[in-house]
Amino acid sequence: MSHTPLRHTFALLSLLVLVLGPVGCGEGALDDTVPEVEPRPVEALQLGALAERAYAGTEVSSNADVLLDEIGPRISALPSGERAQDFVEERLQAYGVENVRQEPFELLAWDRRSAELQVLEPAALGDATFNILSLGHVGSYDIEAPLLDAGYGTAEEIEALGDEVEGTIVLVDVGSPEGYGRGVHRTEKVTLATRAGAVGFIQVNNREGPLVPVGVATLGDEPTEIPAAAVDLESGTRLLEALAEGPVEVRLVLDNWMERSTAANVLGDIPGATDEVILVGAHLDSWDLAQGAVDNGSGSLAVLDLARALAGHVEATGETPLRTLRFAFWMGEELGLYGSHAHVDAMMRQELTDRYAAVLNLDVVGAPVGLGAMGRPEAEDFMARVRAPLVEAGFELDETHSTGGGIYSDHQPFLLQGVPIVVVRSRQLPEAAGVSHTTADTREVIDEDGISRTAAVSAALLWALANEPELPVITWEEDEIGVKLEELGVRDPLERAGDWRWD
Ligand SMILES: [Zn+2]
Repeated sequence: MSHTPLRHTFALLSLLVLVLGPVGCGEGALDDTVPEVEPRPVEALQLGALAERAYAGTEVSSNADVLLDEIGPRISALPSGERAQDFVEERLQAYGVENVRQEPFELLAWDRRSAELQVLEPAALGDATFNILSLGHVGSYDIEAPLLDAGYGTAEEIEALGDEVEGTIVLVDVGSPEGYGRGVHRTEKVTLATRAGAVGFIQVNNREGPLVPVGVATLGDEPTEIPAAAVDLESGTRLLEALAEGPVEVRLVLDNWMERSTAANVLGDIPGATDEVILVGAHLDSWDLAQGAVDNGSGSLAVLDLARALAGHVEATGETPLRTLRFAFWMGEELGLYGSHAHVDAMMRQELTDRYAAVLNLDVVGAPVGLGAMGRPEAEDFMARVRAPLVEAGFELDETHSTGGGIYSDHQPFLLQGVPIVVVRSRQLPEAAGVSHTTADTREVIDEDGISRTAAVSAALLWALANEPELPVITWEEDEIGVKLEELGVRDPLERAGDWRWD
């Protein structure tokens, strides 16, 4: 554990300002380097009142009218995504957030056209139709090959199948084996199958009903090497039953649009007294099949609403936070974290990474449940101090300080640089279970009141992070990041994605 000099120097100098005050001695000299803002610990911030005001003024529903009902699905590099970028930009400006800008980046843009699966053998299934959708970053294909049941498609199962995988289209359950210890992401499964010689990949949903969850099939910046698609449980079960009887030969036809293009993140700031940054972000893009209400209209609406609340707080009180608050709406997340990656890469080139003192990522948001910080038990006391006034103000938050963390969302590029990731855990409505990346991700299943409360709780946490004299979370040094990530249990998937740079 090491300390970032900037943070320390600042805390010390600020204390000097407090102690020396306007007593003359060195006042002018100090003014050049030290802002006249007092660091304010949590207890001085009246976080309960701040969160109550945030909640009382919520605009989550009126913003959902535009973001979800008018704009709908938000595809990176296509007009729908650009409309969403412009809407968020306009809202941030209207709320009084400063330095609002769009930050363009390049990506491999993708959109679906059609998908079809036909059984050639056994002939009895020749007329059967299947509920099938292409996965993302898959091009256009027309192939014929035998099917193979590959279980959950884990590394162990693919290895056990050995040469059998070669030349087949693997059928893979969307979930992970019981007791496996971690979820196995579809991008990992596609990579494993491709390396083992499969010529196609079909993911089978594990929930009853007609839903077919999709998602990007590679995390890299390249198209998949094989066609990859997904089917609902009933379609998958029919294929698996046929396979249990004997060989099954299919024709898989996928047609998709794919092009190198440009999308843009939308960012805005509440400038602090220093250029240290507390960032809160949500991905604004969604899948094409529905409104993307849960994933991630919910998080986008939350960040928009907490930006409104915090800008309003600054305007009403005239207070300047110690650290700069930055609001980020990432595009290209669903196609492989493009927007957040581009932002972090640009910062690294400017050697600015260590300015980011903490990052909060809101991806799939419901009613608030609790607070945490990934891999950082040392933040427990701070989080308890933030929680206390919020609970008193009527926001239900449990006492668990969660330290777990995963990858595959926009905090990942920051986490991999050792930047502290703070967490606001939230709970979806029961009817939202399993709707992400499907045709059922509509406004009816989101909890707009819960999102408003999570926005209020998050606003309070961010305000505390922006003002606390010395934060309990410190950016990890390069040589300790690998150890910490291993403790978080994300080494395996990072290795498979080629993102592991430690021994
Ligand atoms: Zn998401």
